[in-house]
Amino acid sequence: MSSERDRRRMLRDAHKAEHKRAEWDLLGLDREQLDDLLDHVEERLADTDCDHTLRHSRAWADAWSVPWSPLEAGLLANGAGCDCEVLANVDPDERV
Ligand SMILES: [Zn+2]
Repeated sequence: MSSERDRRRMLRDAHKAEHKRAEWDLLGLDREQLDDLLDHVEERLADTDCDHTLRHSRAWADAWSVPWSPLEAGLLANGAGCDCEVLANVDPDERV
């Protein structure tokens, strides 16, 4: 039996999922690409410190033939102005 509270929770979860999808749309990436981007950037930053640019993200975009300027705009809109901020701010599982 579903209570009013359950119903509200369901609506809220649906809203969250919707919000996340909108975020990915903003980035112009599907979930698989976003995961791959985060893996790529994390790997690169394991070897070297972030140089406060989005160069690793950009290299990834080039490798995937993803147009860079809309992706860059989407990352900036998500609060990611450099590669380490991509890892910090663009987590598809934690960010709501
Ligand atoms: Zn950084």
